[in-house]
Amino acid sequence: MPTGLAWEEKTMWHDTGLYFGPKDVSYWIEPIVSPENVDCKRRIKNLLDAAGLTEQLISLKVEPASDTDLLAVHSKNHLQYIKDTSSSGGGNVAKQFGTTRVGENGFEIAALAAGAAISCVKAVMSGAVNNAYALIRPPGHHADAEQSMGFCVFNNAAIAASFALKDHELERVAFVDWDVHHGNGTQSIFWNDDRVLTISIHQDNCFPPDSGSLSEVGGKKALGSCLNIPLPPGSNESVYLTAFERVILPALRKFKPDFIFVPCGFDAGFHDPLGRMMLRSESFRKLTKMIKEIAEELCEGRLVMTHEGGYSPHSVPFHALAVFEELSGIDTNIIDPYGNTGNCEVSKLLRHEEDAISAAENLLSYVTEG
Ligand SMILES: [Zn+2]
Repeated sequence: MPTGLAWEEKTMWHDTGLYFGPKDVSYWIEPIVSPENVDCKRRIKNLLDAAGLTEQLISLKVEPASDTDLLAVHSKNHLQYIKDTSSSGGGNVAKQFGTTRVGENGFEIAALAAGAAISCVKAVMSGAVNNAYALIRPPGHHADAEQSMGFCVFNNAAIAASFALKDHELERVAFVDWDVHHGNGTQSIFWNDDRVLTISIHQDNCFPPDSGSLSEVGGKKALGSCLNIPLPPGSNESVYLTAFERVILPALRKFKPDFIFVPCGFDAGFHDPLGRMMLRSESFRKLTKMIKEIAEELCEGRLVMTHEGGYSPHSVPFHALAVFEELSGIDTNIIDPYGNTGNCEVSKLLRHEEDAISAAENLLSYVTEG
């Protein structure tokens, strides 16, 4: 069964501007592009093309998400705010924690990104593909119902999941968010929805501040529908694989989703400027293999990944190539030239890493039984 690729060139035109951080020249910051710029994403697509992999994937038709699709997750106020900012020339749309910029016509581009995620769901549900990846900008997992945050305008994965629940009458869906930052927006959107299990494995207290702790287990109406695995900075492949084996896979087996979404960031890679983790391309390949196999075991392989963070233009394309190879079962024989750089090799867990996983493992009893 093939893998679908949702790629729409216009989402690469998302304009995050020449200023990241304070704009006032008194801060002495020479203007520079935002970390969330087109480079990493376009270089992924270029490598897939150069490797001959794109032509072996199913290219999915992308249409913009409708207002109805967006309003399934976001408030009317938020939607109108993005439309207004976009039509008046663009600007910062984040209310807290730094800048999230949309350019002029940024609404149309953000709606295309969400639409790409929906097109992945449609393709998987129709049986046209086994699994699919939305390679899009802007990312989505920090955006909640009411606000944009952390480079995210609309929550693409949450919009796609809502579409799957409503239009395909699925009963239960799960998220496994391995972006290095907490998937706070997705967690918030489904906080009181017991049809949705949100799992986030991330660097402890990285972004947003004070978000993604073990104590966040879901709202009163859906206790156990949220599971956070905050890991210490410096965690390598061994820590992630152990967390998958001891926490994430058992949680999914307990919840029994009909569909799995992976908000897929590559900022847990060892080169990343916005994270402090130690994953390499082979690590992302192994995580993808585990998720693909559990999707086959639990929900006929139904799996969609939405592109989130990942800010090293050197390494991210190779991390993504490994994920695409694993999703599609196609080996390009391209070796990541950075693969053996850094202290990324598999090793025995350190005491504080073991403690972090044990603490998350103790929360398995909370997870809703499917
Ligand atoms: Zn991130």
